[in-house]
Amino acid sequence: MEPLYSGKAKSMYETDDPSVLRMVFRDDVTAFDAEKVDRIEGKGRYNAEICASVFEYLEGNGVETHFLERTGDAEMLVERLDIYALEVIPRNIATGSLVRKYPFEEGQELDPPVVVMDLKSDEYGDPMLNDDIVRALGIAGPGELEEIRDEALRVNNLLLEMVDERGLLLPDFKLEFGKRTDGEIVLGDEVSPDTCRFWTEGGRSLDKDVFRFDRGDLAEAYAEAAERILA
Ligand code: 5GP
Repeated sequence: MEPLYSGKAKSMYETDDPSVLRMVFRDDVTAFDAEKVDRIEGKGRYNAEICASVFEYLEGNGVETHFLERTGDAEMLVERLDIYALEVIPRNIATGSLVRKYPFEEGQELDPPVVVMDLKSDEYGDPMLNDDIVRALGIAGPGELEEIRDEALRVNNLLLEMVDERGLLLPDFKLEFGKRTDGEIVLGDEVSPDTCRFWTEGGRSLDKDVFRFDRGDLAEAYAEAAERILA
């Protein structure tokens, strides 16, 4: 069956129910605009189990997500959403592009957290947005943007509580939101070591930075992230 949509690490398939999609986490891993590419056996399964567990935790704490149920090692059913072309990135510790582009110190604590909104566009290199550009491009209305930002901060607080209990730090992560047909805004896409930075208290990365910067064995890092998060 042909996917409805195939991204760098996930494929979406239609199901018999037009409002439900099957989201399959593949073993592919890419970085730096797909300049660096590999396949890591087991990665799809680790991402799916971490993502399902995080979505269940968030749902249990009142956050609406697109997650319906896990249907296999590396797949789950999700609600079909109209996704905003936004990458919403809560940041608790300065690292990555924030340190490359702005005069923050690597590892500097950001309290209160900083929410960065980037345009989701490979063609334009995911540039950072401001409220006026979001409005002028017709990506989201002002009320919607405010709601998305508040929801991202709520997710951040809940995830910080979750990882703290497991001896992990959460420097930053990327969320995507979408709209149901009734207009309700819900969390979509995935929450996994592909889209989050997880650091041990000793500063070891348990996320895609291991692949981006050749910091060791990605499958081992994801296995450790899964073991801690699912505990
Ligand atoms: P940075 O802006 O430092 O590159 O990324 C910040 C955070 O958002 C990191 O946790 C990173 O994994 C996530 N992130 C930002 N953009 C993307 C993206 O296009 N794809 C994925 N998978 N994660 C992203």
